[in-house]
Amino acid sequence: ADPRALLLSRIRDVPDYPKPGVLFKDITPLLADPVAFTALTDTLAELCRRNGATKVAGLEARGFILAAPVAVRAGLGFIPVRKAGKLPGATLSQAYELEYGTAEIEVHAEDLTAGDRVMVIDDVLATGGTAEASLQLIRRAGASVAGVAVLMELGFLPGRTRLQPALAGAPLEAL
Ligand code: IMP
Repeated sequence: ADPRALLLSRIRDVPDYPKPGVLFKDITPLLADPVAFTALTDTLAELCRRNGATKVAGLEARGFILAAPVAVRAGLGFIPVRKAGKLPGATLSQAYELEYGTAEIEVHAEDLTAGDRVMVIDDVLATGGTAEASLQLIRRAGASVAGVAVLMELGFLPGRTRLQPALAGAPLEAL
């Protein structure tokens, strides 16, 4: 069965968070519902299989919560893509533009190899900046991109368009 209606029913809209005028999509009701969380995990794991992924990358922090069980379910390794300064080993860093200022994400280079095909998972695609930077990191680490899978895409923002060059033909799946 198509789990989309169930998943959507478990997303809470929080007005004016984290600042006035923003409608925040809160996934915690979905995480608290074992049927919905399992449906999401199974759907994302199937996407990983269908696209030939060998590893699943989660974007800090909500992407970790989704990507780790997906990796286990799909029998694949998990790669944390972390905010700058959190990984202890040799890292690759990628800076990207935010609405105000810049951010930086990092990955442990040695945990990815040339044969890896990485599926990037996050909860929400907004401007696409975080996902775009993660794809650049994966390629710089010598691996290839299996795709990007998010629970929600904010359709009123140009994230999908922004991501196209970095996807280079790989799919962007928004449930
Ligand atoms: P982007 O880089 O602008 O696409 O922002 C995406 C990042 O911001 C993701 O890691 C999301 O977790 C987070 N994000 C942006 N908007 C929301 C939201 O409404 N709910 C939850 N996370 C959000």
